[in-house]
Amino acid sequence: MQTNFTLAQLADADTRESEAILRKCVHCGFCTATCPTYVLLGDELDSPRGRIYLIKDMLENERPATEKVVKHIDRCLSCLSCMTTCPSGVHYGHLVDHARSHIEKTYRRPLLDRGLRWVLSLIVPYPSRFRASLLGARLGKPLARFLPGRLGAMIRIAPSRLPAPSPWDTPQVIPAQGPRRARVTTLIGCAQRVLNTAINESTIRLLTRHGVEVVVARGSGCCGALVHHMGKSESAHDQARRNIDAWWPETEAGGGEGLDAIVINASGCGTSVKDYGFMFRDDPAMRDRAAAISDLTVDITEFMQRIGLAAPVIDTGHAVTYHSACSMQHGQQIKAPPRDLLRAAGFRIREPAEGHLCCGSAGVYNLLQPEIATRLRDRKLANIDRTEPEIIATGNIGCMTQLAAGTDTPIVHTAELLDWATGGPKPARLSDFPDPPPHAAVSEPVQDQQNVA
Ligand code: SF4
Ligand code: SF4
Repeated sequence: MQTNFTLAQLADADTRESEAILRKCVHCGFCTATCPTYVLLGDELDSPRGRIYLIKDMLENERPATEKVVKHIDRCLSCLSCMTTCPSGVHYGHLVDHARSHIEKTYRRPLLDRGLRWVLSLIVPYPSRFRASLLGARLGKPLARFLPGRLGAMIRIAPSRLPAPSPWDTPQVIPAQGPRRARVTTLIGCAQRVLNTAINESTIRLLTRHGVEVVVARGSGCCGALVHHMGKSESAHDQARRNIDAWWPETEAGGGEGLDAIVINASGCGTSVKDYGFMFRDDPAMRDRAAAISDLTVDITEFMQRIGLAAPVIDTGHAVTYHSACSMQHGQQIKAPPRDLLRAAGFRIREPAEGHLCCGSAGVYNLLQPEIATRLRDRKLANIDRTEPEIIATGNIGCMTQLAAGTDTPIVHTAELLDWATGGPKPARLSDFPDPPPHAAVSEPVQDQQNVA
């Protein structure tokens, strides 16, 4: 695509980056076919190519964002399906992030929209505030179906029960069982630790059972993705910086004992932490540390495949439909590891049609764009139902919460199933399932067990 930025405009690092991205686009439109909003709405401006044109026009002409641009960019899920499809390597994700930051600086949203975004950015990344707000939303549940739009959507999606805070989500070192093979830290996160403590707990059990020492670092918190996708770049950088500052002293270069990996069990957060190097590329004080942190970051399934999953100790055999989160399959391009590990753990894996399409969760998209999000969720669940699953598995808390609001089929995290199969407790959501018999024959590990330390 031809661009016409001036030299003065290109002096700005973000504009320079966006120009390079725009120049890669050859207008072929392949991306439109796999874009969820284009598939639903059929409007070119709700496709990646249409949005790219809108962004180019806005940035090139240094225009404040218009209502029209905001409408179509707001409808984008940042699912990055378009990046998987694009044959030219257009990094739509970085382009739309720049557009969102420009919108945040140049567009005054209607009062209610502004207020909702402000409230979300001040609540969701902070566990104690988020917990208090969910307890409040629970009181409003009986009224949810009478409440319109976003308010009704927020109350409907709030879970009716919340687990007590987990003792494992506080700073500590959890030793490996047996000889130590590796030492890692994790992102304990924000919303996930309030909504579902079983995910971090099963992850830690799984890791320690496989000889991995887990450091829960003091000061690490929200990855920054939530505010980043709302265009609030400064807040996103602050949250990312806090994580880097929390993890760095654990690395050898930072004077610590050393880390073999930063293991993340929410793929939305993993995508974001893997991008810290890019976020701080122009910050001489942070650049090297941010890049090193990104390099160390892996999804729990990547890490388990690297160290080798132990043979299952029970015969599970349940039919599991695996829902690949967009941040997993598009954001991080992780496809085989979760499926291979679940198969090796004894589950029968089923794949839904249209697996590449988003379930509508996308951070807080389901709260900001409830109509599109609900249509995508229902479409996703209809495809999942056709596979007749006993269990739905996925690797992202956002998808779990979104899908759970529309189905009675139990939804569990991949780590919970792997933990259960290799010696952990049965996931609470499967409490109605009969206890499987102990495994008769020992199956091969996914990969030879190896020491990664
Ligand atoms: S990120 Fe997803 S919703 Fe946005 S343009 Fe790309 S495919 Fe469409
Ligand atoms: S597939 Fe890639 S090159 Fe083709 S229009 Fe979409 S973004 Fe541009």
